[in-house]
Amino acid sequence: MSSPRMREIVDAIRARQRFVLSSHARPDGDSIGSQLAMTYALRALGKEVAVVNADAAPPPLMQFPGVPEITVAPAVDGTYDAAIIMECSDLARTGVSGLDRSFVINIDHHPGNTGYGQINWFDSTAAACGEMVFDLIRALGVPLSRDIATHIYLAILTDTGSFHYSSISPRTFDICREALEAGVDPVLVARNVYDSNNMGRLKLFGAVLSEMQIDQTGRIAIVYLDHAMARDAGGTYEDTEGLINLPLTVKEIQAVVFFKQVEGDEYRVSLRSKGDIDIGGVAKEFGGGGHKNASGCTVTGAIDALQKLFIEKIEAAIGVRV
Ligand code: 5GP
Ligand code: MN
Repeated sequence: MSSPRMREIVDAIRARQRFVLSSHARPDGDSIGSQLAMTYALRALGKEVAVVNADAAPPPLMQFPGVPEITVAPAVDGTYDAAIIMECSDLARTGVSGLDRSFVINIDHHPGNTGYGQINWFDSTAAACGEMVFDLIRALGVPLSRDIATHIYLAILTDTGSFHYSSISPRTFDICREALEAGVDPVLVARNVYDSNNMGRLKLFGAVLSEMQIDQTGRIAIVYLDHAMARDAGGTYEDTEGLINLPLTVKEIQAVVFFKQVEGDEYRVSLRSKGDIDIGGVAKEFGGGGHKNASGCTVTGAIDALQKLFIEKIEAAIGVRV
């Protein structure tokens, strides 16, 4: 799909040589896949590319081409002709400083993007930012190499929650079909993403799920993790990737809230919901954001009071009367 914004980005890229790419802190499959697909495409055009992220990719994603070479740093060094920021509703979400010294190209599919770039392209109908990157790469006239296709497929597979979420469209499958025709092995991608856990991760899942609480309506699962629990289970916070989706596999559960202690009274909150329940709206009330079915925020307070507050807001989002 072509859009005037995308044509502007094509022209801006053609006119420039040195690029820095970034995405949000604690990168996921869509942020990694979008950045690396873009990297390989720009290199195919003879451009110089650096990728700078605030945090390392989760260990399973390290198995994909180019991911171990990503620079993990809190700031960019040097000057670039343009910074391409993908998957970030505001520039601070990168956790990387100095990106605004360059011409900023903002590519995102999150509703509520603040439009911080010199060029801003959003498409909240895209199931993954990787769908937008696919279109851009096509518009740049770069053939779909196996590495590019693998990263596009990784972005879509992970951001749709393995084809579970409502943003999936016929285009999603058109792009995946093209990715497979370009040589992607979907079995290998899925195995790398989902079947390369360490034992500490499994034990951590067990510890967190055994402490899970259910609200009085029976529709909301509350999960919690602090540093002591992680240490006792032999896992790390990075190992919790994907854990939040497990309570949703129970038929009655409509939404999940996951509190992860940062330090003291500060908590990272991840939220997930099924179907029409707008959990992004709940995160927004607490200064965060995200999508209808997947969102997050950071909050400070006593955990019991926070849990009560979130349950009230989520019950309101579900529309239950108690
Ligand atoms: P996660 O639970 O995986 O950390 O986040 C799920 C989704 O919620 C992310 O893909 C992102 O779209 C959004 N999100 C998470 N945390 C924040 C936040 O602090 N601010 C904003 N604006 N969005 C967030
Ligand atoms: Mn995404």
